[in-house]
Amino acid sequence: MSVPRVRFAPSPTGDLHVGGVRSALFNWLHARHTGGVFVLRVEDTDRARSTDEATNIILEGMAWIGMEPDEGPFFQSRRGDLYRARVQELLAAGGAYRCWCTKETIAEKRTAAEKTGTLFRYDRICRGRTEGPSPDAPFVLRAALPEEGEVVIEDVVKGRVVIRNDHLDDFILARADGSPVYNFTVVVDDIDMGITHVIRGDDHLNNTPKQMHLYRLLGAEPPVFAHLPMVHGPDGKKLGKRHGAASILQFRELGFLPDVMRGFLARLGWSHGDQEEFTTDELIQLFDLTGVRGSAAVFDHTKLEWLNGRRIREMAPMELLDLAQPFLERAGIPTDAAWLPRAVVAVQERAKTLVEIAEKLTMFVDRGPVTFDEKAQTKFLTDDSKPRLAALADALAAVETFTAPEVEAATSRFLEERELKMKHIGQPTRVALTGGTVSPSIYDVMEIFGREVTLDRLRSAAGD
Ligand code: GLU
Repeated sequence: MSVPRVRFAPSPTGDLHVGGVRSALFNWLHARHTGGVFVLRVEDTDRARSTDEATNIILEGMAWIGMEPDEGPFFQSRRGDLYRARVQELLAAGGAYRCWCTKETIAEKRTAAEKTGTLFRYDRICRGRTEGPSPDAPFVLRAALPEEGEVVIEDVVKGRVVIRNDHLDDFILARADGSPVYNFTVVVDDIDMGITHVIRGDDHLNNTPKQMHLYRLLGAEPPVFAHLPMVHGPDGKKLGKRHGAASILQFRELGFLPDVMRGFLARLGWSHGDQEEFTTDELIQLFDLTGVRGSAAVFDHTKLEWLNGRRIREMAPMELLDLAQPFLERAGIPTDAAWLPRAVVAVQERAKTLVEIAEKLTMFVDRGPVTFDEKAQTKFLTDDSKPRLAALADALAAVETFTAPEVEAATSRFLEERELKMKHIGQPTRVALTGGTVSPSIYDVMEIFGREVTLDRLRSAAGD
């Protein structure tokens, strides 16, 4: 058996969507699992819609998820000579023919067919012709498909798919300006690159019968096909902007971790028994195309957040800080601040994303007077609580080492002595220290701020 060769073949015409990355991932996993080769081919023949920016997005998105191609990127726009040569060979061998029918004639025939309610198919009128109406009349090139019989696709995911040839058209291979179309370039390239398995979204399933014919016309064995189910949102509609983030780099911007994303995407349509989560090594070891389901996969954003949050909680604080670096910079947090390693431990418990880590850390940057949330101030900094805050400040001033356990012990003694409960000072202290009602544990906050800032803030909230 030859080494499996797979490819990811995106068109660089916009964002790289989750569905596309999932296709790339399944190809990559198949290659890694089988010791095969993963090829990246950028399908940029549509020059009007393809952009360098979109190509960069593809490369960046793949690198972020950790899928470097073994070969490529190859660009279809640089492979015109190959397509021209193949089309000439096909023409010479009778697998393709020139068609001089004008767009207008075709449109008229289409309208007439639609009127009678029949499916329009090109009537192959040029198939027997060797000459056009005039020597310089423009022509397209069409594939000469068999008129009878059927194409059978043994799809790994969808099972056996049978299409009658009389339902297929002698489709166009190259336009009047000589430019080849997708169905042609994709087959030429897959043959040229020795692709053994075509793993792609099932939105391409309707192209596959045409492509099967092209393999035959070009004298090659078709590869194994595996058409992946679409990715849907929880409402059962194709995943898109309406569901929030849908492009892979958005997830990076939102602060998801690449390995969480990778494990999550792998589960979109693929499963291995009941196992819910996989490390990358496990994915590589266990991934098998036979584990891909045929029905649509649902992208559950809440679950992704949950998984990401759990991964953040499990992470070593320094590793987390390292990953969060760009997010901290963006939030204006000095990444060399001495308090950061301590503070990250305090916030990692409740953050679901790296963006949230940065958000939660911002409260520790400014050590000057607090800006109070008005509601919180009114509710918690009252005539009752203010004197308690001042007294608490005095009690804490005597703490020897200003660590969370020490200030916690001192606070408990303070409450006991005064026969107070935590509810009497908990939120007022939080508001005094942070300006608001949400923060990590107040003892963590005190340790991170240190004695001076803590006492200052308690006292100034108390009105001292
Ligand atoms: N370039 C095609 C697309 O972006 C994919 C081609 C294929 O996988 O066969 O949809």
